[in-house]
Amino acid sequence: MSHIFVTGGAGYIGSHTVVELLNADFDVTIFDNLCNSSRVVLERIQKITGKTPDFVEGDIRDSAALAAAFARKPVDAVIHFAGLKAVGESIEQPLEYYDNNVSGSIVLCETMQAAGIRKIIFSSSATVYGESASVPYKEDMPLGRASNPYGASKAMIERMLSDLCDSDGRWSVAALRYFNPVGAHKSGLIGEDPKGVPNNLMPFISRVAVGKLPELAIFGQDYDTPDGTCLRDYLHVSDLADGHRRALPALEKPGFQVYNLGTGRGYSVIEMVQAFERVAGRPVPHRFAPRRDGDLPAVWANADKAKTELGWSADTSLETMMEDTWRWQSANPDGYPQF
Ligand code: NAD
Ligand code: UDP
Repeated sequence: MSHIFVTGGAGYIGSHTVVELLNADFDVTIFDNLCNSSRVVLERIQKITGKTPDFVEGDIRDSAALAAAFARKPVDAVIHFAGLKAVGESIEQPLEYYDNNVSGSIVLCETMQAAGIRKIIFSSSATVYGESASVPYKEDMPLGRASNPYGASKAMIERMLSDLCDSDGRWSVAALRYFNPVGAHKSGLIGEDPKGVPNNLMPFISRVAVGKLPELAIFGQDYDTPDGTCLRDYLHVSDLADGHRRALPALEKPGFQVYNLGTGRGYSVIEMVQAFERVAGRPVPHRFAPRRDGDLPAVWANADKAKTELGWSADTSLETMMEDTWRWQSANPDGYPQF
């Protein structure tokens, strides 16, 4: 396998994965409509790796644009990150989310099929386990009802890919269920740059620390957890990127496979705030607020399958996750420059 086509490769996880692939000497094409990312990412990837990935600006719902990009040079596998990911926004704009994520994935697979490309890694999420699963989550657990359109879109795409594999034995699919990616590349050149007010904990904490937001609201302090705040399985985005490279050989085997990508342990919101304060050497003003709708008390992975079958584990320490987040945020207080 040498040429990897990365949808959404200019985004947070995609850009780190592209760095990982270029460093491992893969040829990479990024296909991204830049709806949630910046062209500056391409220069930053070049700075880090000394290599320039091919870039095609396009939308995965545009079959002609995809087909033209596939025709440029033979593609060995697709890594599919492109999609919308804000849970709250998905509740307000469900059609937009189903269109981008589900219809986009259908158009992508149809166009791949027409081009004779049948290997794909898909960005799924721990959210597909639903509300009633018990921790640690394991790949063979039945999936529950998603509590929002974003989660439902991920479950639908997994189902669609699994049905595709059942219908045609030439397809190879690896659905990677991410837990909570945080951190940034150690260079401080690429990182998470959400538009507007962040929904996720880590970018919120780092924007408070850099003085762009006044304080963090901690959603709920009365959960049945050791300190009353929710537990999540936070993993370094560069470990997650490495997981994609290690999943590529699994595509040599046809069929549908699922892997959890997490560390296997949970940290509370309070532990995250305190760890960040220690590393950044400054306080993160915070207050307790009511629970956020749909939040589960505790989510973490059983990541044994990825370790056994892919030889992957997420070993970066919490301290390094915080250091790297802070390096990125303090060097880029306004995110990527806008032109
Ligand atoms: P991101 O928004 O930073 O990256 C997604 C990229 O896809 C962006 O560059 C965006 O411009 C592009 N894109 C969106 N819709 C597109 C379309 N229709 N056509 C072409 N490009 C399009 O998000 P991320 O955090 O890097 O997440 C990547 C993937 O991983 C997403 O599918 C997301 O749902 C999934 N995921 C993310 C997390 C997380 O916590 N970040 C957790 C689980 C799963
Ligand atoms: N969280 C919080 N304040 C925020 C954002 C998040 O207290 O401003 C909490 C949230 O309730 C959850 C944890 O941090 O317990 C992780 O939230 P995030 O949205 O990052 O991930 P997810 O809920 O998808 O696991």
